[in-house]
Amino acid sequence: MAANVSSAPQGAAPATLPLLVDGASRPAAAAETAPVLEPATGRTVARVPLCGPADVDVAVRAAAAAFPGWRAIPVPDRVQVLFRYKALLEREQEALAASVSRENGKLLPDARGEVRRGIEVVDFACGMPTLAQGRTVEGIARGIDSHSWRVPVGVVAGICPFNFPAMIPLWMFPIAVAAGNTFVLKPSERTPSTGLRLAELFQEAGLPPGVLNVVHGGRDAVDALLDHPLVRAVSFVGSEGVARHVYARAAASGKRVQAMAGAKNHLLVLPDADLDLTVSAVMGSAFGAAGQRCLAGSVLVPVGGAAEPLLERLASEARATRVGDPFAADSAMGPVIREDSRARVRRYIEAGLAEGAALVVDGREAPAGGDGFFIGPTILDRVAADSALTREEIFGPLLATVRARSVEEAVALANRSRYGNAASIFTSSGKAAAYFRRNVEAGMIGVNVGVAAPMAFFPFAGWKSSFFGDLHATGEDAVRFYTETRVVMERWS
Ligand code: NAD
Repeated sequence: MAANVSSAPQGAAPATLPLLVDGASRPAAAAETAPVLEPATGRTVARVPLCGPADVDVAVRAAAAAFPGWRAIPVPDRVQVLFRYKALLEREQEALAASVSRENGKLLPDARGEVRRGIEVVDFACGMPTLAQGRTVEGIARGIDSHSWRVPVGVVAGICPFNFPAMIPLWMFPIAVAAGNTFVLKPSERTPSTGLRLAELFQEAGLPPGVLNVVHGGRDAVDALLDHPLVRAVSFVGSEGVARHVYARAAASGKRVQAMAGAKNHLLVLPDADLDLTVSAVMGSAFGAAGQRCLAGSVLVPVGGAAEPLLERLASEARATRVGDPFAADSAMGPVIREDSRARVRRYIEAGLAEGAALVVDGREAPAGGDGFFIGPTILDRVAADSALTREEIFGPLLATVRARSVEEAVALANRSRYGNAASIFTSSGKAAAYFRRNVEAGMIGVNVGVAAPMAFFPFAGWKSSFFGDLHATGEDAVRFYTETRVVMERWS
């Protein structure tokens, strides 16, 4: 464990974050606040207001008031603001990455990668003059021409999780705003500063007041957004239970919803896999960001003779993983987000052991890192196929191994999951890879890739209980999600 955990300023009482409404910072009306902790130290680095209907109403009304003016700006002019925004994000990327690492706990290089992936969505959104093009058929009847147009939806709300404080807000508002919508962002109350900073930078780039607003908080803020009659669409990313709630409640009031949810991603390894590549990819997938990615591999399925050499190599890499300060160059893994996350990982380890699983590497043995929420990489072998460890999302650095005799059995194991976010196979057999990608039930597939994250110009989301809605995040799906289709028929004869 690294000792020199980075320090936030000590002494002064942590400031309460403001909202961003109608182009200006303002304090929340809500009096209640919650601490924002630095997971590496357990220290309070800020306080976040827990907004309710009053704060949400002011932000939504600001967005609604800004909508007619913003949608009237020609799309080539709208994207000029995004070009300037992209330049500001490039300028600020190091500070944004530091903000992600401080509040989320992921390693600084990982946070830099996250910010980069977010900027790529801005790049994509800058193509809106092309992306939002409709279609025309001249002469659908005598003297009549018909066109389909993509027009903005109106006020959109974005509700974000803690695990990608920069990238996930950037999945949402750049595309929505480029398409002519106005937006209310609700970052995670556990990692709220980065989303707020992203919105401030958009203002600095010249976005008119009210086009992008930020509110903070948890359930009350979310429910107020879901119930607000002026919110037309909701993009949500978070856990399965909350995603189901958001999907049902927003749909009940007639809103368009996309809800990206939890995951239980399987990593299949065949005996013919390249062992070096596989070990590195499995380590990155299972333990990168302390296992707190929706694309993290959490069930390892070695097929036949793949198990022994693979587990031996993974065990030695996991034992050697230096867990510590996200800002230290020699750390290989940071903390989990909160004490309750660490306690949850411990509970699942104990549950696995009680069921008879074998402990290959015990992350509970990692030396304590002060008051930070550190737990090391853990690998369990011979986990029962129907164990809670293979069914439930743990969201921490715990890799459960279930052995299979054939690729068919391994795919069937993966498909027993109620989730279907991502799945990967490691093999040098094109035939096995083809069988896998045709038959495995997941929205994002890796072939010799451990974290199969689609780039900004492809849709991002899973299947089954990993996603509720129709149109996925980013790519062409996002353009369709943030626009309505209008079909025009014209006769001028
Ligand atoms: P979370 O569900 O706890 O929180 C997500 C958002 O919902 C937050 O903004 C939070 O304030 C709000 N919220 C929490 N409880 C609520 C309630 N009872 N009612 C209304 N709103 C509520 O998720 P998290 O712990 O911040 O993030 C981790 C989860 O997100 C994991 O399940 C992970 O798999 C998932 N995730 C999914 C994807 C994807 O693309 N499928 C991407 C990233 C994260």
